[in-house]
This record gives sequence, structure tokens and C-alpha cells, in this order.
Amino acid sequence: MTAGRVTLVGAGPGDPELLTIKGLRALEQADVVVYDRLVSPAVLERIPAGARTIDVGKEASRHPVPQHRINQILAEEAQKGHNVVRLKGGDPFVFGRGGEELEHLARQGVDFREIPGVTSAIAAAAYGGIPVTHRDYASSLHIITGHAREGEPLRVDFEALVRTGGTLVFLMGVTAMPAIVAGLLAAGMDGSTPAAMVENGTLPGQRRCAAALESLPERAAAMGIRSPALLVVGGVCALAEELCWFDRLPLRGRRILVTRPRDRAGTLTGRLRELGAEVVSWPCVETVPILPCPAMEAALEDLTAYQWLAFTSPAGVDAFWQCLRGLGRDARRLGPLRLAAVGPATARALSGHGLEADLVPERCDGAHLGEALAAAGGRVLLLRAEEGAPGIAEALARHGAAFDGIPVYRTVCNTARSQELRRELEEGRFDFIAFTSASTVRGLMAALGPEADFSRTLGLCIGEQTAGEARRHGIPVRVAERASMDALTELAINLTNGGK
Ligand code: SAH
Repeated sequence: MTAGRVTLVGAGPGDPELLTIKGLRALEQADVVVYDRLVSPAVLERIPAGARTIDVGKEASRHPVPQHRINQILAEEAQKGHNVVRLKGGDPFVFGRGGEELEHLARQGVDFREIPGVTSAIAAAAYGGIPVTHRDYASSLHIITGHAREGEPLRVDFEALVRTGGTLVFLMGVTAMPAIVAGLLAAGMDGSTPAAMVENGTLPGQRRCAAALESLPERAAAMGIRSPALLVVGGVCALAEELCWFDRLPLRGRRILVTRPRDRAGTLTGRLRELGAEVVSWPCVETVPILPCPAMEAALEDLTAYQWLAFTSPAGVDAFWQCLRGLGRDARRLGPLRLAAVGPATARALSGHGLEADLVPERCDGAHLGEALAAAGGRVLLLRAEEGAPGIAEALARHGAAFDGIPVYRTVCNTARSQELRRELEEGRFDFIAFTSASTVRGLMAALGPEADFSRTLGLCIGEQTAGEARRHGIPVRVAERASMDALTELAINLTNGGK
């Protein structure tokens, strides 16, 4: 058995792009992921489908798993031979008990490593427009816990902190904030010292409450600032108004539902998030390989009957590859066979396995692929969706080409969370739903059912065909000027700015 190990990974403060490259790589290789309450859902989306997840931030009773039990879980999973990733919000060693967990692993003789993360102490302030040091305002930075043990007073040396003249950042200090402010004032800090709280820093729901120190408790109470939030005290807080770049992002405050299949959602989701939107990624349809697939296994045993192998989607490539490897074969099995792909994404999926497509039609659809294959001549093995591939099959038949079609993947409707989505739609919680194809509209309708209420949202459609499908289901729509992700994003920005 291979020895397991634990990698302690800092997940960053919330914005999924603030996870480090090294942290992401570790996550992608994990068998087991143990995570906390503060790790954002967008980071959890990056956990590979095959990995087991253990949420130690809450249990059925809603009480977090006690620390000694977490330590045990980590050691046990590694001792079973698993590659365990322990994901923690921010940086694991900044009030994250990362040190305690590693101590336990060291004593148990478990192999471990640590990947630092971007701490909220610095990043949440930065997204709130506050540089934690600045030559004109602060020459030191102090990160302090505002958490007191139950029934005990805060143990903070306020006099010493005030004497430093540096920037003070309190974590876990929402409840104790009035006591912290009182402590600083009693220790001689000027009541007019700039101060701020940043709630849900780096996340789409980020809020900042800035005030002079003495009036902060009242202001924060009026805004209802809740955990997780930072308290920052010091001259640098005066810069927030001028430097709050995050609040000025064009899609700030918008909540958008993206229904693309998971493997294709990346670019649109990333772009919308970069522009400040809160994106809920909910692939309404997913493709899964049909495995085992006796028809494909039989074909793979004797490929000499064919001159062409044709793929209609990246999912088909995946299914084919899994089947081939499952038979203990590799790419050499293909011999002189030529490869056709319906479009660039499918061709990319092939090249991911070291295979170059010999044919990609200029117009990326089944009909054009069928025509091109018929013109090239030779018998075609078409690896298609279970639902069929009407365009390509018709074109091949029309031109008298010889072919066999084998269903190798199917599209399934994702109904998980559909009740929650229906409720959020009803409550008007989505400003927009991005539709990138008519099939994503159909997928969403199949998952939500005909009763879904779209009166408080707006469908952003990539083209007329998609818009037609959405209108048929009673979804109010706007159509992008061009059929591209950029144009769809522009549409969202224009609508946010009050355009039509
Ligand atoms: N290891 C973490 C901190 C854990 S202590 C890190 O390096 O960021 C938990 C505290 O961190 C919270 O009570 C809050 O004060 C702060 N915090 C974590 N995420 C935050 C966020 N997104 N915005 C503001 N504060 C946050």
C-alpha cells in the first residue's frame, strides 16, 4: 500500500481566484478533502468529482467537529493510504489551528506538508480599499484575535497596541468589537482614528462599514455587520473611499445563474466573477459516459472495418478513452484510423490524449461534419450521444456514406438543488440567467419544471435561437449583439448600467 499524506492548504479568503496555483494543484490531486466552514463554495467547486469530502465545519447538530476529532480524521485517512487535503480559510497558520493539526500528524508519524494561503487579514482589507501599511500612515501591522474564551474577558494588551501606532487588524472580533473599541479608547487612542469593518471580504456580498473609531459600534450595529468580518483600525482606513476598486466593478452586486455544463462553464463564470458578479454555477445538464459499453468494446476489438473515427463532443472522447483504457489498450490500437471532431473543443479533448484530429469542419455542427466525412470517403465509426446525432447521421445517409453509430455517452438532467433554485427564482434572487444555447434552456426547464416563476429575473441569451426557446417557456429575455461570451457579458454590463 502506498503511504498517504496530508497537505494543509490555505484556501484564501473567499474569492476562488485567490487560491494559490500550488494549492489548486494539490486539491486537484486529492482523494479526500477535509474542509471548514469558511472555505467558499466557489473553491469547493474545484474539488475533483472522484474525491470524498468531509465537512468538519458542521455536523447534523450544527456543532463543528471538535479539534481533537479533526486531528484524528486527518491521521486516519492518511494512514489508510489516502492523499488528504486539509482545506482551511485564508492562511492555515493565521488563527487557523494549522499548527495544532500538524503537531498531531508529526506525532503520529504521518507525512505532511503545508501550502500557505492568502490571509483575509490582508486580502479582505485590500478588497475593502484598505492597504494595511502605507508610508504616510503605518509602519507596522498587527493581527490580533478578538475572540475571548467563553465567560472570560478579552486578553488584549491595548496599551501596547496603541503605543505601536501601527495598523491593527482584529479577526474573530465581531461580537467583541464594542469591547475592543472601548479598550483602545481607554488606552488613549484618539476617538477620531479612522476604522472600518469589512464583512465577507473578497466575496460578492462584501460590505464595508467605515467610521471614526468612537462611532464604529453604532454604525456597525446599524448596518448589521456579521461574521465573518475584520475590524481594521488605523490611519490607512481613511484611504478606503478613494481606493475601493472592488465596489466599482461593473457587475458588482449582480447575482447571475449560469447553467452551462460544468466542463464548459469555466470561461463565462470566471469572466462574470472578475467583473464583480456573484455567479451561481448550476450545470442543468451533464454528460456521463455509458460504461460498460459492449458495442464500443466490440468495435475496438476490430477497427480494421473503419477508415474514420468521428466524435461529436468532448464527452464522447472521454467515454472512448475510458473504454479503451478499461480494455487495457492504448492509442496504438487506432493504427491508421483517421480522426474527425465536430469542433475545436472536441479536437482539444483529443489532443489532451496526444491525438490530433484530421478533420474539423469549418462550420462546427453535425451536418457539416457528416458532409465532410462523406466527401472524404471510407467507413465511419460514429461515437455519439444516446439521444442520437441527427445532423451528422442524416448527412452521412444522404450522401450514401457507410457508417455505424454507437451511443457512448448520455445527457442527464441535474435535479439536485432544483427546489432551492425554484425558491430563489421566486424570491427574485437572480438578476440574470445566462443561456448559452437552446439546450441549456431546455435543461433548466426539465430540472425546474413548468411551474418555475421567471417573472423576477431576466434571461440573457447568446442568440435568437436560444432566446426563442426561452420565450416559449415564458422567460423574459434580452439577446446579445453577437453570439459570443464577451457579447453576453457586455449585455449584462449594459443592463446593469440601466441600458436596454
Ligand atoms: N485563517 C484565516 C482566519 C481564520 S479566523 C485567515 O487567514 O484568513 C476567522 C476570522 O477570519 C473571521 O472571524 C474573520 O474575522 C476573518 N475572516 C475570514 N474570512 C473573512 C472574509 N472573507 N472577510 C472578512 N473576514 C474574514
